[in-house]
Formats: sequence, structure tokens, C-alpha cells
Amino acid sequence: MADDSPTNTPTHFIEDIINEDLAAGKNQGRVHTRFPPEPNGYLHIGHAKSICLNFGLAAKYAGKCNLRYDDTNPSTEDEEYVNSIEEDVSWLGFRWNGEPLYASDYFDEIYRLTEILIQNGKAYVDDLSAEQISEMRGNFYKPGQDSPFRTRSVAENLDLFRRMRAGEFPDGSRVLRAKIDMKHPNLNMRDPPLYRIKKTHHHRTGDKWCIYPMYDYAHPISDALEGITHSICTLEFEDHRPLYDWTLDNLPLPYRPRQIEFARLNMTYAVLSKRKLLQLVEEKLVDGWDDPRMPTLSGLRRRGYTPEAIRAFAERIGVAKNDSIVDVGLLEFAIREDLEKRAPRAMAVLRPLRVVIDNFPEGHVEWFDAANHPDNPAMGSRKIPFSRVVYIEKDDFQEVPPKKWFRLSPGAEIRLRWACLIKCVGVVKNAQGDVVELHCTWDPASRGGDAPDGRRVKGTSHWVSAAHAKPATVRLYDRLFTKANPGEGGGDFRAHLNPHSLQTVTNAMVEPSLIEAAPGSRFQFERLGYFCVDTVDSKPGHPVFNRTVPLR
Ligand code: ATP
Ligand code: MG
Repeated sequence: MADDSPTNTPTHFIEDIINEDLAAGKNQGRVHTRFPPEPNGYLHIGHAKSICLNFGLAAKYAGKCNLRYDDTNPSTEDEEYVNSIEEDVSWLGFRWNGEPLYASDYFDEIYRLTEILIQNGKAYVDDLSAEQISEMRGNFYKPGQDSPFRTRSVAENLDLFRRMRAGEFPDGSRVLRAKIDMKHPNLNMRDPPLYRIKKTHHHRTGDKWCIYPMYDYAHPISDALEGITHSICTLEFEDHRPLYDWTLDNLPLPYRPRQIEFARLNMTYAVLSKRKLLQLVEEKLVDGWDDPRMPTLSGLRRRGYTPEAIRAFAERIGVAKNDSIVDVGLLEFAIREDLEKRAPRAMAVLRPLRVVIDNFPEGHVEWFDAANHPDNPAMGSRKIPFSRVVYIEKDDFQEVPPKKWFRLSPGAEIRLRWACLIKCVGVVKNAQGDVVELHCTWDPASRGGDAPDGRRVKGTSHWVSAAHAKPATVRLYDRLFTKANPGEGGGDFRAHLNPHSLQTVTNAMVEPSLIEAAPGSRFQFERLGYFCVDTVDSKPGHPVFNRTVPLR
């Protein structure tokens, strides 16, 4: 029997940290993580890496994982994003601990703790402008300078902070800053702002607040209030960890979480920045967040990706501490591997070429058995109709074939998948000289696909019966960008959009069993790839098929 207990699978560095913490008896043996999206966009495949990691660790250690919205920036947040995030996390197969949580639920508590901080002389109200503050912050080579307001008394700071809260001062006129060290080698520690004035409506707290805590300050407090044990974030926050720890050190909080950074996912031929994805949506360079070309979870879902494939991808790319770029081919490999096992086979012809079977009686129909999966009899079979006129793929015929051409050409014989052998006996062209119809004969003794005399026929084509097939729209996708690293070298990433990323085939012909296929269902169209019935544009009786991925 396979043993898949945690001890037998290799661990990554975060699991090693957790194992050490557990061995040392930290956190009363608890493992509690959180996934903290900012509700200012739809989740993408990079977020999936973080979701699989955070929820995966909770599952592995019988712990908990919170879903917490980091909604400290009122101007960019939206209810639509909140809903999409919950849908995406659920779709990926994860369930958060309790109800979704919001950093904004802690605004009262954060405010209360901040008054304590001020009383302890650890924070001050600064009247300098944002420009002055940034000017006096110094840089990597130059130490910062103290603000003239840094020496204000506790009483004055408390009074000003309360009046900031009361709405007495305009946006940007004052900030509350941590009193740490303006000469600290880490710039994030040079008296960072903790609260800013922003008279903006908040999607949850309405107009109750006109001051909002900064992300770097609200995050450790939220983690501590929730009893988070391991606060996992991406590498760009490594330099912020001293501030995370400073916040925990200087406030009376019930728990002591630990921040751990890992490398974010970067992927070729994709942009994984919500800002850039929003730009594509707003400028209508794609058809919304769930455009099947988008690297968003809603786009991948609509494209036909399965949660299983995305989880397998996340597992395979692993968790490391150094940045790298993952080849999008790895994601495509994961979906092929999953769909190869589970997608039923079907036949569709994208560019139909009419083929008349001269020796097949008019009006007669033969029904052939077609397996729904070549290696899995449990998936059953279906009957497919064969009649005097069939369609094959235009590409499967060449009048003057190259060497080693095993498909159809004048005089050649091929197999029609699941049906019989046919031989080309005539070619009909239009006035422009294009081939518009073929004439063939069939061998009635080859019913099912093989000749009784054992003659070898190498080529096999997919096909549909003209009298039975139904028209359908098929969308073929190419990469959204022409460059592996769009915007490389500081250029505009939009300059590398692929103008041929979507090709719509409006007159494909599909086998009759496909016509009532449910939106969201997935198939392998033989020789063409994996396809998914579009959930948005399909109409009853007229499905739209999105190609998830070609066969190779
Ligand atoms: P963006 O950089 O696009 O603005 P973000 O990191 O600000 O994204 P959040 O909503 O703050 O987006 O992200 C929620 C969580 O997902 C964070 O913990 C963040 O570290 C993680 N995350 C975001 N992008 C990636 C990525 N590409 N790879 C791994 N984790 C990511
Ligand atoms: Mg963020």
C-alpha cells in the first residue's frame, strides 16, 4: 500500500521551519496560516501558489487557514473582487476557517493599540508633507534626518492623533509615524508611517474612518489578533520583516506570529500583476477578467483548467526562497496530464471538407461504436452515425502530397476513426481551383476500421457525418504575449500583446453527441486538443468550445 504520510515526502524550507517550531513546542503545537488578498482585483495563478501553500500547510498539519481581506486601502477596493476571491478559493478546493475576515474589522482595535503606542512614546504625528518626508528619509548611502516634529510630547501627539481621527485635518496634511531610527540601515525602519488621513468611503466601514492604518502596520496586528502562527508572504516583504517584528515587540498582543518569505511565482508569456491585469481589462485589450487568455483563476477556469491541474502545478513548482521564472509549458503539462485521464473523446472538424462516399447508398446510415476513452472502458462508448457524405479536416487532404504523407490524397486510402477505410477516387474544384469536394469509396468489409485482408493503412482521420453533424463555434487560443517576458527591459508590456491570441472558427462541425454538452464540460477532440464548453457565450443547441490546450 502506498504510504503518503507527511514524513515520507520531501519537505520544503517552510515545512522545515514549522517542524522545528513544533519540535520546540512553540505555539502550543498549533499551525495557523492565512491567505491575505487585497480585494482590488481578481486572483491569478500566482495567488494560486500562495493559496495552495497556505491552505495546504493547514491541511497537512491539521491546522487552520484564515481568509483575510487586507482592506486597508479604501480607494481601490470593491465588493465584486471580494466575491470573486471567495469563488476562486472555493473552486480551487479549499475551505477557509470560519467566516472570511477583514483587516477593517480590526480598525477599532488597531486604533486602541495605537494610542498605547503613542503613550509609550513610540509614535508621533508629523506635519511634514509627503515630499519632505521622502526627502529627509535619505537613501541606501545617506542616513535620514529627524523631522522637527519628532520631539513632540506624548500629550500633543495624542491630541493631534485624536483630531486626525475626528476629521479636523485635510488628506495628506499629517501622518502618524513610528519613532524608530532615522539612521537605521533598513529604510523601512526610518520612522515609517503608520496611519494616514484619507477621507474616502470604505467598502465596509463606510465613512466611519478618515484615517487608515498602513498595510505594514495593520498586517502584523491582524495576524497577532487572529493567532496566526506562520505568516507567509512573498520575498519583497523580507525587508519589511524588521517592521513586522517591531510592531509585535511594541504592542500588547495576544500572539507572536512569525513572518516567512518565499519566492513569488513568475511565469513566461504572462503578466502576474493585478495592476497590469486591470489595465488589460479597463483598456478592453481582453474581454474582462475571465477572458480565457488571462492568467486569472476565472480565466483559466473558463479556458477549461481544472482545480486539480492547478494544484498539481503548484505542487510541482515547489516553494523556494529565490526568484525564478516558471515556463508556462509546465502549467500546460499539468492540464494535459489531468485531462488525458478524464476528458471523454469526441470528434469535431474545424475546417470541413466535404467527402462523398460514391458506393454508399443514399439515405443509409451505419452506426459505429466509439470508445469514450481509449484506456478506460469504464467511461463507456457511444454510437456515431456514418452516412454517404462526411466531413474531414481540410488539412487532412493534399492533392500533391509531400513524401511520407499518410493522410488523404488522390488514390490513397485512409481510415476514418472508429468507422471504416476510404479511398480517394475524385477531386472537385471550384473556379478558383480550390478543392471543394472529394469523392471516395469505402470498403464495407472494413467496418470498425480494419481491413479483413490485413492490409496496412497508416493514416487515420477524424470526421463527422454531414447529415448528423451540428455547427458550432470553436475558439483557438495562442499566447497572450509574443515575448516570454512582456515589457522586458522597461518597455510597455502592452507592446508585446499577440494580435493572433484568439482565433474564432465559426463553422466547425461537431458530432451530434456534443451539441447538448453542458457548459463547463470538457472533451478531447481527437487530434485537435482539449476543449471546454464556454460558460458565458454558449447557447442551448449552440455550444461555444474553448480550446484549453492543444494535444502537444
Ligand atoms: P500584485 O503584486 O499583483 O499587486 P499582490 O501581491 O499585491 O499582487 P495581494 O492581494 O496582496 O496581491 O496578494 C495576496 C497574497 O498572494 C499575498 O500573500 C501575496 O504574497 C500572494 N501573491 C501575490 N502574487 C503572488 C505570486 N505571483 N506568487 C505567489 N504569491 C503571490
Ligand atoms: Mg499585496
